[in-house]
Amino acid sequence: MTYDDDNIFAKILREEIPSSRVYEDDDTLVFMDIMPRADGHCLVIPKTPCRNILDASEAQLAAVMRTAQKVARAVMVAFDATGVTVQQFNEADGGQEVFHLHFHILPRHADVSLRPPGKMGDMAAIQAHGDQIRGALGR
Ligand code: 5GP
Repeated sequence: MTYDDDNIFAKILREEIPSSRVYEDDDTLVFMDIMPRADGHCLVIPKTPCRNILDASEAQLAAVMRTAQKVARAVMVAFDATGVTVQQFNEADGGQEVFHLHFHILPRHADVSLRPPGKMGDMAAIQAHGDQIRGALGR
């Protein structure tokens, strides 16, 4: 399996398609998921290419996990969450749809199920939720 430079997240990294960015450092980028399964659903990706954890380097994994922890803590504050789900899929049969390594960060609340996948979110709401995460990261 080889990395395809034309995957959607590579295009987001190159700013060829828009995204709602909430955080970046030298090695990672975080942006809002366009089909959020929970308010505040965002994605953490490495800035360098790899498909998933099967071909990622230790350095890519370490950088992404560092950022995932930072953002998981921020969404707890931003959404007054009582839990956070971190999801990651590998290859099509593992549930992966976009083949650039990413971790889903999903703020959770008691008795609130994740919404079904594949439904476009309201862009204004997604933007507002991104602002909330940025705010919590800035504290
Ligand atoms: P996975 O590959 O882990 O199954 O999921 C890919 C995720 O990327 C999905 O949650 C989907 O909603 C999200 N996604 C797909 N296309 C886009 C896009 O163009 N922009 C953004 N921000 N998210 C996307």
